[in-house]
Order: sequence, then C-alpha cells, then structure tokens
Amino acid sequence: MTAVVNGHSVVGATVTRLRATFEAGRTRSLTWRRDQLEGLHRLLTERESDIAAALEADLGRNAMGTFMGDIAPVTAEITHTLAELTSWAAPRKVRLPAGQQPGKARVVPTPKGVVLVIGAWNFPILLTLQPAVSALAAGNTVVLKPSELAPATAALLADLLPRYVDPAAVAVVTGDAAVSTSLLAERFDHVFFTGSDRVGRIVLEACAKDLTPATLELGGKSPVIVARDADLDVAARRIAWAKSVNAGQACIAPDYVLVEDAVRPAFVERLLHHIELAGQAEPTRIVSEAHFDRLDGLLSGHGGEVTGGARERATRRFAPAVVTDPDPDSPLMQEEIFGPVLPVIAVPDLASAVRFVVARPHPLALYLFTSSDATVERVQDLTNSGSFCVNHLLYQLLVPDLPFGGVGASGIGSYHGQHGFDTFSHLRAVLQKPTAIDPSFAYPPYGPGAQKLLRRVMG
Ligand code: NAD
Repeated sequence: MTAVVNGHSVVGATVTRLRATFEAGRTRSLTWRRDQLEGLHRLLTERESDIAAALEADLGRNAMGTFMGDIAPVTAEITHTLAELTSWAAPRKVRLPAGQQPGKARVVPTPKGVVLVIGAWNFPILLTLQPAVSALAAGNTVVLKPSELAPATAALLADLLPRYVDPAAVAVVTGDAAVSTSLLAERFDHVFFTGSDRVGRIVLEACAKDLTPATLELGGKSPVIVARDADLDVAARRIAWAKSVNAGQACIAPDYVLVEDAVRPAFVERLLHHIELAGQAEPTRIVSEAHFDRLDGLLSGHGGEVTGGARERATRRFAPAVVTDPDPDSPLMQEEIFGPVLPVIAVPDLASAVRFVVARPHPLALYLFTSSDATVERVQDLTNSGSFCVNHLLYQLLVPDLPFGGVGASGIGSYHGQHGFDTFSHLRAVLQKPTAIDPSFAYPPYGPGAQKLLRRVMG
C-alpha cells in the first residue's frame, strides 16, 4: 500500500520534490552528472558484499554470480559513460542543405525531467541502476521502483542510494503493484519499465494519459538455432551455461533450441552432459513458490521426453531440465519459460528453423550456432529480434555501444551506452539564422526569377 502522510501520498510528494530539483537546474551541469555516476560507482564497489548478501537472501545467488550479473555490467556502464559523457552531451552539428543557407543547425541533447524506472526482480541491481546511470548522465532526476520480489535488494537500494547520490534528485520507492500503480498516476517525463509484457501493456496505458514516452524492456521466448555445421560441443556448453545463469531467470536466456535433424543426437548428448555440470555450479533458486509451481506445471503436458529437472519445493531448488521434442502448441512452447527448463526441437533444415522463428512474435534475443558466414547473413536477413548473437549467448548485453532492447512483443526502445543517454534525452532540433542577409526573393509574391531559384534549391 502507498503510505499517506498529512493527506498527501508519499509518492506524490517525492515526485514533486524531484521536479523542484530538476526545475532548479542543477542536474544540467556535467559536473553534477559526473558526481552522481561516481557516487553510484562507489556504492557498487564499497558495498559489494552488502549487495551480494541481499541477492543471496533474495535468490540464493553466490557473490561471483552477483558480481558478474548485477555489479560488473553497471560499473562498466558507468566507466564507459564517464569517458563519453562530454561528447554525448555536446550539441551535434547538422549540415544545412543549400536552400537553407546561411545558418547553423544542431541537435542539442536536453534532459527530459523526472524519470520513473520500474525494475524486475531477476537482476534487481542491474535493472534499476543501469537505466539510472543513463538517466542521470542525461541530466534527469530519477525515481526508482525496484521489484517487491527481491525485497532485501529493494530495501538495500532504498537505504544506500541517498548516501551515495544527490538525495534531492534520486528517490527509491519500494512496494508492490499498488505502489507502482500510484507512481504511474503521477506525471513523469519518461517511464522506463522492465518486466512482463502483461504489465508492460498496463504501463503503456498509464503513460498515455499524459503522453509520457515509455521504454518497455520485456521478455518472450528467445530461440537458439543450431545448424548442422556448428561446433556442437561448444554450442552445447555455451547454451547449457546461458540457461543455467540465475537458474534460467534471465530475459535473454535461451528459451528453446531448434537443432537440425542431422546433428540432433550428437548435440543432445553434449547438451545433457554440459547442462548437468552447469546446473551443479549454479546455486540460484527459483524466486517464489508461484514461479516454482509455474515451472513445475510447464514440465507436464508437453508430450516430449524430460531429462533432469530434479526439484524441491521447500528450497525452491530446480536442476536444469531438457525436454526433447515437445508439442509446439503446448504451454511449454507457448509461454516464456524464465527458468531452467530447455526444450529442444529437431527441424529438418535451416529453412524450417527460420520459419519456426518467423511465425512467432519477435524475440528479445535470437541465437545462432554455425560456422558459415552465409548462414549468419541468411538468418540475420530473414528474421527480426531485439538482438542477434552468433556462436555465443548473453554477451551482447555487455557491449556498451550495442542497443539493448526488444522489438514488437519483446519491447519498445533501448538503452546501454549512448542509446541509453539518448533514450533519456530529448534530442532537440535547433536552427539559428543570421539576419544580416534577408533577400526579398525569399518572400511572396515570387517573381519568375525567384520561382526558378526556389524550385532549384528547395525541392
Ligand atoms: P513483472 O511485470 O511482474 O513486474 C515488473 C515490475 O512491475 C515490478 O516492479 C512490479 O512491482 C511492477 N508491477 C507488477 N504489476 C504491476 C501493475 N499492475 N502495474 C504497475 N506495475 C506493476 O515482471 P517480473 O516478474 O518482475 O520480471 C519477469 C519478466 O521481466 C519476464 O517477462 C522477463 O523476460 C522480463 N525481463 C525483461 C528484461 C529486459 O531487459 N528486457 C530484463 C529482466 C526481465
């Protein structure tokens, strides 16, 4: 529930306070922006063990998993942003066409104002602080709403952030969907949402009332295509690793595999070997009983063959399971899995794999294992997805100049690097003309000479 103080919601008062900070103008200076990023960097390095403990409490994750998944990507983003901030924030010169001479044109990145970031629970530091890095770099004030399903991390963020960044410009509001709903009733200048497509639709509808721009970082079923010319052992090892990270609870985790029939037996044999090893090395548990039961349910009624998947509801530990040849119409192949269950479907050839992918909503990520550049180009040309990663998985997330985001059902907009900076900036068009030259042929009525000239230079 939203707390109420003196008849005003805390949420409303927080947004008003952050708007006053923005309007006072101090978030515009690059020095202030750098101070915030350096504060976030200090928070992540000085408090790494507190963060690891919170993630251990929320998800059972170990400290190295938290460093790799939640801390290192954000510190890397901060370092990259600090190095590039001056150039990203500078006016971008634009050429004027002949008919517009003389004059000067530029694009001026302008802070939007007060930004709302709503995060998901699976990487609860990454999915709140990484958008905050871009939003602060772009000169905005930020309200963060972490997920209630990672309560220890949410409480830690609420405690630590005001100590490391400007508390008049960054606020953490903790709580569940009801708190999110009351936040969305306020007017923001940008809403950045990470979560399910179901809630994404609710967020977009709420944004419509004030015409607030929104970025939606959603999920979906990210396929892996294994071609007959792939290095099968490396493919199996990398897929098994990527499916095990955070117990498969990752938005760009491989959701299912399409493997060419000719190499199916050899690939499945390697996959079963590597997935067992990867599962043993991954301590993360399923986030809640509801999600445990959902995954448990997906493991029946699919008509395929299950290997692995040992699980215990009391501890919410769930070993990875491989399901070969499930029914494509079963819930397992219709819903986003978001857990350590990996369906493998054999297809006669690459064209059938492409048809399978294209017949479904555009995924957040598409993975391909092949040794042929021609196959890479073919699959790249015939499909669409938020990202396309060849011969590995997940690492596209860590390339700072690649946009991270979905397309169609997997999301709207993107962030990371300059893409994030631009997402939280209004790219303002500025044209500046001199007054010294003001020829009368530029004004109606246009004589024959002016008409000829204007037709030549304006069209
Ligand atoms: P979710 O949609 O249930 O919740 C996300 C956030 O929305 C939470 O903070 C929650 O409190 C809030 N929320 C819930 N109900 C709401 C409502 N009715 N109105 C307003 N806000 C509401 O998602 P989740 O379970 O936290 O995360 C899992 C989903 O997120 C998966 O679909 C996954 O693929 C996706 N995801 C995407 C990315 C990405 O970067 N694209 C990253 C992680 C997770």
